[in-house]
Amino acid sequence: MAVTLDAQLLEILACPSPDHAPLRPGTPDDPDADALTCTECGRIFPVTDGIPVLLLDEAESPDESDDTSDDGA
Ligand SMILES: [Zn+2]
Repeated sequence: MAVTLDAQLLEILACPSPDHAPLRPGTPDDPDADALTCTECGRIFPVTDGIPVLLLDEAESPDESDDTSDDGA
């Protein structure tokens, strides 16, 4: 199921990260995915029941550390 958001709503929505960039429907891998992708930072936000979840905590970062990045701790 593709995301069915109005173009108007998409114009209002913006990435919650400091870039505040516009969002595109779908993901780079799957344009029909229930998700929105930031055009600037590339974060992927889930869309739950047609409602975009624009929270950085819920976003999927494009460079999610696949490699074992050691950030201390
Ligand atoms: Zn962004």
